Amino acid sequence: MRIYVLSRRKLVFGFLVLITVGGLLDVAQRSLTIPSLVRAPGTYYMAHTKEKVVALTFDDGPDPTDTPDVLDILKEKGVRASFFVLGQAAQSNPYLLKRLVKEGHEIGNHSFNHDYQQRRLVQEMNQTDQEVFAATGTHTYFYRPPGGFLSKDQLETIKKNGQVVVLWSVDSKDWSNPGIKQIVNNVIKNVFPGAIILMHDGGYHRIQTVKALGPIIDALRERGYRFATLSELKMLDSEIK
Ligand SMILES: [Zn+2]
Repeated sequence: MRIYVLSRRKLVFGFLVLITVGGLLDVAQRSLTIPSLVRAPGTYYMAHTKEKVVALTFDDGPDPTDTPDVLDILKEKGVRASFFVLGQAAQSNPYLLKRLVKEGHEIGNHSFNHDYQQRRLVQEMNQTDQEVFAATGTHTYFYRPPGGFLSKDQLETIKKNGQVVVLWSVDSKDWSNPGIKQIVNNVIKNVFPGAIILMHDGGYHRIQTVKALGPIIDALRERGYRFATLSELKMLDSEIK
């Protein structure tokens, strides 16, 4: 009887572990960090340069609450960044796309619906590009897959479609809401010349991201870094010319 109770407890414990692990996996999947993929050949995740320059990138917007907050901070600090927008969000907030371009930022493509498997890869890329073009008169050139997930075949398809897959080299992990200080530290501790930094301005309320952004910019500047859009960063890359 005693053994039975123990094993039952173990069973319950096992279930809890499974549920917890499942939850963590889900959180992880929401954003990514698959080192092998992050540095996959044929994707762009950093510039090879000795110059202290980095690109700030924001995914999952435009969001009517968080994107204006992020843009206000960037404007105040005189920083230009790159935004990987979702077509669905862009469709509802075309005025934010216009503001992005007007204020000197770059717009990248982050699919239409944020389907991790990207079953309608090309259709979604084209749909999002159409939304961006309708609002701004410019096409997207950089594509960041939802969660950073991508198969080799999908990578080839995107290249054939004339776009460049951009991942990242420094993950702020703002997607896990670890606290403002931790987000700042995740960037400052891992930054290097030519880094592409991952942040989010949509998906759900990004209050921590908004509060961490100013301190991140200040701390990077104190360390001698300047900021570039992805196109500008790519032009500095000694291995691409
Ligand atoms: Zn995303």
